[in-house]
Amino acid sequence: MENIKFIPRDEIETHLEAARRIAEGFESRGMVGDSAPGYYIQTFGCQQNEADSERLAGLAKLMGYRAVSSPDEASLILVNTCAIREHAEKKALSIIGEYKHIREKNPELIVGVGGCMVTQRHRADKFKMSYPYVGFTFDTGAIHLVPSLVLKVMQKKGRSFVISDEYKIAEGLPTVRREGGAAWLSIMYGCNNFCSYCIVPYVRGRERSRLPEDILAEARELIAGGAKEITLLGQNVNSYGRDLDCGETIASLIKKICALEGDFRIRFMTSHPKDASEELLEVVATEPKVVKHFHLPVQSGSSEVLRRMNRRYTAEHYKAIIDSLKEKMPDISLTTDIIVGFPGETEEDFEATLEMLRYVKYDMIFSFIYSPRIGTPAAAMEDQIPAEVSGARFKRLLSLQDEICEERNRRFVGRRVKVLVEGVSKSDGGMLTGRGDMARPVHFKGDESLIGSFAELEITSCGSYSLEGKLI
Ligand code: SF4
Repeated sequence: MENIKFIPRDEIETHLEAARRIAEGFESRGMVGDSAPGYYIQTFGCQQNEADSERLAGLAKLMGYRAVSSPDEASLILVNTCAIREHAEKKALSIIGEYKHIREKNPELIVGVGGCMVTQRHRADKFKMSYPYVGFTFDTGAIHLVPSLVLKVMQKKGRSFVISDEYKIAEGLPTVRREGGAAWLSIMYGCNNFCSYCIVPYVRGRERSRLPEDILAEARELIAGGAKEITLLGQNVNSYGRDLDCGETIASLIKKICALEGDFRIRFMTSHPKDASEELLEVVATEPKVVKHFHLPVQSGSSEVLRRMNRRYTAEHYKAIIDSLKEKMPDISLTTDIIVGFPGETEEDFEATLEMLRYVKYDMIFSFIYSPRIGTPAAAMEDQIPAEVSGARFKRLLSLQDEICEERNRRFVGRRVKVLVEGVSKSDGGMLTGRGDMARPVHFKGDESLIGSFAELEITSCGSYSLEGKLI
């Protein structure tokens, strides 16, 4: 286990102590309860970022701040950025640009920017040079430093732009969990795969698995706190445990979590197809607490494009995993990620992706037009696809998937399903939203007291994007 890197407990404690000092400062000025200064966290990107933001919220709370719902009310704004696509970076830059006006009205406002974007040196430098009101940036391995960085700004000791030399696991940080009964549980950080289009291994470091006992302790805590759904998170959860040298795998870990007492269910993401073991597929099929939904990013249906993406599986191998899943669980819900317009993608390659959609019949896809990321091999590849070609292919992909979605959703109509009630529907305030084994949300009428618990529904109708049901 010598290759596991943890931040020593006393080092974490130093930064938690800084948080307590800030809180004491507020307390001494009567700034507690409703009078406490506000914190606002803006999160971009994936579930891992959302989980990181829960730890940022935990630290902000320990510093004595209270959550507010708008940046205008905040004395501390933390932005957790994403670097996966250029669009996400531009959006973050634009929003952070607007904070300048809030800072002009409130010179005491502290703004910190973290996440994948500022783990890239050129982005951190941009904040240093062009965003003077940003007090600090912190990379994905430096969340635990935030209280000390805030304290430094408060003490007018200068701005900080942290990019770590080495990424380590920070255990024991406080967390503010999201509401609604569903909880994130990070089981590992980083990625070793270096898909040729992806920036993640450069901004989140190499794979680091948390110890099984730490994960189980957190799972127990979540269940005791009322969590009904735990989503195990990692960039590639299928390689969980390889760096631990203790024989633990994602499959054995899921079994141990399922063995914990309580009425809860398990999801996991993301799964790399090259590491999707039969053992894992079997656990999904046989453990009643595991949701019968598998998210398996294919990215392209062309083996040649997959080779250039450095995905290390072929379209045939991917289909064999799907066949195995369907054989074990004929009704399983399947979702995927797809990149359209990867450099050199021919019309034939794209047709192979459409063919993959027809073969698998995904319940839902997350599709994106390829976005070159500085520093990745694909950005330097010849044959970048013109935007109009990618755009036209993207539309064809969505149109085919819309038909498949409706067909897939229809199988639920008339069925009884158990869903976790996640909250009030975002599109219709008079409805609640729940999620079960199906990939799409179910909207239904019900009392808000149901939020965070399981409900039995009968599915009454569906469209391409959602289902409707009624309480039984
Ligand atoms: S598996 Fe590939 S796409 Fe996923 S995070 Fe790692 S490098 Fe990126």
